[in-house]
Amino acid sequence: MASDLYSVLGVKRDASEKEIRQAFRRLARQYHPDVNPGNADAEARFKEINAAYEVLSDADNRKKYDQYGDQWQHADQIEEMRRQQAARGGGFRGFGGAPGSGQTFEFDLNDLHDLGGGHGGGGFGGAFEQMFRRGAGRQRGRDVESVARITLEEAYQGTTRTVEVREGQETCRICGGSGQIAGATCHACRGTGSAAPLKRIEVTIPPGAQSGTRIRVPGRGESGANGGPSGDLYLLVEVRPHARFERKGDDLFVDVDVPVADAALGGEVRVPTPKGRALALKVPAGTQGGKTFRLAGQGMPRARGGFGDLHARVRLVLPEHLTEEQRELFERLRASTSRAGDGAGVGR
Ligand SMILES: [Zn+2]
Repeated sequence: MASDLYSVLGVKRDASEKEIRQAFRRLARQYHPDVNPGNADAEARFKEINAAYEVLSDADNRKKYDQYGDQWQHADQIEEMRRQQAARGGGFRGFGGAPGSGQTFEFDLNDLHDLGGGHGGGGFGGAFEQMFRRGAGRQRGRDVESVARITLEEAYQGTTRTVEVREGQETCRICGGSGQIAGATCHACRGTGSAAPLKRIEVTIPPGAQSGTRIRVPGRGESGANGGPSGDLYLLVEVRPHARFERKGDDLFVDVDVPVADAALGGEVRVPTPKGRALALKVPAGTQGGKTFRLAGQGMPRARGGFGDLHARVRLVLPEHLTEEQRELFERLRASTSRAGDGAGVGR
């Protein structure tokens, strides 16, 4: 067990914030590497002083340290376990250390057995024991988050991605974890700085996934240390923008080209769908540009079942180069529209 943080700074347990700060400043000046060049002991002491001050200068952390000693960083977990334990009616036995009493916990497996009365006995079992084991060297692996960029078609069908996760936190000994040796990429770890082997995890992305969908795969994160449980793996989905479809939630919008004659007289156009199959859409006579037709249930799959809608937006298409015949027809159309008085007003 590391030495007590208060004694590192040479202050009493009930020292005021000011006393702690003053003690830190005095010691930091005394052991600063600039004042003690090449003195490894001083450097170690300096680090120790800094670490102690980092904890004790923060009121919240100091409180946790007072209560849980070296396990102060696990204070929230311990509190949570206590709450869960209390909710199960198991009580929380054998732990002294009222806030501020300065008593520290020793997470020792032998003590645990004495306290718990054996494995899995009543309320003082599994999860609790696991936590103490953790305190005694068992460490839960870290959570890992990875990003999956998928296409809209993949989001429609659902897909899978293989994620490579480090099994542990072993630092590469060749480069010391920097991933670089003399400015070049470390060959031993391929620049990752880690020597832990990779495991490949296949993650299923369900149909209808959106940008921002976060998929949790429990227990498939980094492996734990000393028999501790693995962390969780999170896959953050990012759906790439599509060239044709615009997505709003579960609905899709798509522009469809309608020849001006079909819009005027009525006709049928093909509407692409995310399934890949185009659908026939009847366009009534007199359809205006920008009009939107709703194709119910032809959008993206919804998370809770069913599908969103597909909205087809009309884009009127005029011939770019008129044939002689088309020119004549448009001339007659213009003459007829200005006679009818409902033309666009750009007469001759
Ligand atoms: Zn390396």
